[in-house]
Amino acid sequence: MTDAGTPSSARHWVRPSVQALNAYHVPDAGGFIKLDAMENPYAWPDELIDEWLRVLRSVQMNRYPDPAPGALQGLLRERLGVPPDMDLLLGNGSDELIQLVALGVGGAQRTVMAPEPGFVMYRHCAVAAGANYVAVPLEGESYGLPRERMLDALREHRPAVVFLAFPNNPTGNLFDRAVVDAVIEASPALVVIDEAYAPFAGVTYLDRLHECPNLLVMRTLSKMGLAGLRLGCLCGSRAWLAQIGKLRLPYNINVLTQASVAFALRHWDVFEGQAAWIVRDRERMLRSLRALKGIVAYPSAANFILFRVPAGRAGGIFEGLRSEGILVKKLDPEAPLLADCLRVTVGTPRENRCFLGALARLL
Ligand SMILES: *Cc1c(COP(=O)(O)O)cnc(C)c1O
Repeated sequence: MTDAGTPSSARHWVRPSVQALNAYHVPDAGGFIKLDAMENPYAWPDELIDEWLRVLRSVQMNRYPDPAPGALQGLLRERLGVPPDMDLLLGNGSDELIQLVALGVGGAQRTVMAPEPGFVMYRHCAVAAGANYVAVPLEGESYGLPRERMLDALREHRPAVVFLAFPNNPTGNLFDRAVVDAVIEASPALVVIDEAYAPFAGVTYLDRLHECPNLLVMRTLSKMGLAGLRLGCLCGSRAWLAQIGKLRLPYNINVLTQASVAFALRHWDVFEGQAAWIVRDRERMLRSLRALKGIVAYPSAANFILFRVPAGRAGGIFEGLRSEGILVKKLDPEAPLLADCLRVTVGTPRENRCFLGALARLL
């Protein structure tokens, strides 16, 4: 009798660093007003759905997808504003691209660095790749990128890759560009600027790719309204992307995603219109949150707002909102800088009113 397959042998053979990871938890959201995951709350107009379904009729499900979809890449370049002489690498969501960078540039004996609080996938993918992960704490209260602390950490750890989310998740702020520039300049290796929230921030590093040969810019269509399709995009020089691209599994972007994203990009004005509503409603939500006694709401350039509730009440308020059918993200007690913090995604005006009403009652 062998013990292969028993729980004790999984504990023996699964790498300790993987055993120490927490699985990425996605709560059951059935029936909730879902303000926890930075999704676009707007459905497609009916005419658009009819036209899209006509496009899908011609998709050949029995064939492998095009591994290098030229027309789709052309549309992406145009809509995102990718400089013509820069390359693109497409991922099954930008999460997959983070994983490819961590595998190809990180890995054993190497360090991956990111400021924290930050996007959890940087740590997750670094650990999965067997790299050493170094978190640099943001400034208390302002969540700014700390210049000296970053430069010291670069000198001390010499990371193979630094991830910077611009705007940052879960804090929502844009880091000071002068500090980001100093990090790019001082970095001995690769810097990836993750612009998942660019549609709501209106600023980008895409136009800096020429000057910064150690820079890659990452985008996703998820927050713009296509989270279900899973398409992310890494932009930069061929020197980096041709190497990292070798790790991509050949057919990572399926035929339905390719056809549907190309269709959506041809109707990009619809999504840009929705993003403009979200930005408008973000400012309203920020004012309303700040008008609530006991709430500190942080400025945001993204489609969500980080806010702090009175000490010790994050759990109770989170549960209270949930019992009223509203799902937000509880960040307390993830990190000391996030004590008493919750994060809310900007929804439709009606969803935002429900959330604000429930929060006011709970306070
Ligand atoms: C949501 C998010 C992503 C992941 O996006 P996908 O393309 O859906 O995988 C990447 N980076 C940041 C900072 C995010 O908040």
